[in-house]
Amino acid sequence: IIGLDEVEKKIIDEAIANYTSSLPIHRRISDEKINQYLTEAFKKYNIESEFEFGVYDHNILTKVHSEGFDDKSSALYSVAIFSNPPRHLSTNYELKVNLLSKQKLIYASVFELSLLSLAFTLIIIVTFYLSLSQWIKQRKISQIKSDFINNMTHEFKTPIATINLALDSLNNPKIKNDPSRIEAYHNMIREENRRMHAQVENVLRISKLEKRELNLEKEALHLHEVLANAINHVSLIIEQHNGRIETSFLATADTFLGNKSHFTNVLINILDNAIKYSENAPEIVIKTELLKNKIHLSIADNGIGMSKAAQKRIFEKFYREHTGDIHNVKGHGLGLAYAKRILDDHNCSIFVESEKGVGSTFIIQIPQIT
Ligand code: ADP
Repeated sequence: IIGLDEVEKKIIDEAIANYTSSLPIHRRISDEKINQYLTEAFKKYNIESEFEFGVYDHNILTKVHSEGFDDKSSALYSVAIFSNPPRHLSTNYELKVNLLSKQKLIYASVFELSLLSLAFTLIIIVTFYLSLSQWIKQRKISQIKSDFINNMTHEFKTPIATINLALDSLNNPKIKNDPSRIEAYHNMIREENRRMHAQVENVLRISKLEKRELNLEKEALHLHEVLANAINHVSLIIEQHNGRIETSFLATADTFLGNKSHFTNVLINILDNAIKYSENAPEIVIKTELLKNKIHLSIADNGIGMSKAAQKRIFEKFYREHTGDIHNVKGHGLGLAYAKRILDDHNCSIFVESEKGVGSTFIIQIPQIT
């Protein structure tokens, strides 16, 4: 009986299988059923993840799949279902399950990693840039330092040598009895001494400015008078160079609030440069005019001029267009930095217009007072 039952069972099973396998897949199993099975299975194995699924027939997605199922996703787990169809009906159903949070987790960790590596790359680039610019800055400073020392020694060496020579000469018995020559050597020593003193003053002045100890006392001054004073200072050097200064004082009012000695120094520095940076006899034109309560002062020369790059930087401390021994005009690159600092303190603006080989014009705008 048992044997007969088994045979009957087999026949019935085969008949059912035959019938069901001829049905389309969506009539054999529903989305809800698979969802339910999967949810139960996930719960059983403690997998806390959202999922999506799809049933495939010969690798083609059938109607049975969860909503929004992405069949292109790569993280798919698959298992064969209905794997024992009658031989004449060859079906090859596969259930593919995709764990959503796993993908999200992978994306999140990849995103985190790439963000981190981006941040580190940025840090490396910034550090590299900072150290490179620091290195360039250091190199510039050391070059400026050696230029400064060279210039200073040069400017002290000449007066010291001259004073030595003059002192030796004064000891000479022939000269000892000639009062006019004693007087001449005496004057020479005094002049060289004055030059050294002026150099020391220059350096001290700029270091004082550096410490921001700028507390200038100001009084009402007449620009034309201050200008005449500054011109007077450089008149001897101008004569030596066979140059001349032309003035056209057109400002109808020239009173401003200023510190007499510092303001005169500024003008002398600019006039000095106009003479220093001229290869031919210097021709300097000084003009003033009154425009909207501001006195516009321009100092133009016919000197060597300067490049656009230099024009932007001449008011920086220690900046010189030619450094080292490229040209024989000596200086420290402090004159215009000092001028700018003093003019800033006077609420004045200064700028330059220049063309190489033609000349330069310095323009200063000074607030006029009544
Ligand atoms: P220094 O004359 O001691 O070098 P300054 O601060 O006075 O320093 O000038 C800075 C630089 O500006 C000079 O080295 C020079 O290259 C340029 N410069 C200033 N005045 C003139 C000018 N009138 N003509 C051409 N170049 C000038």
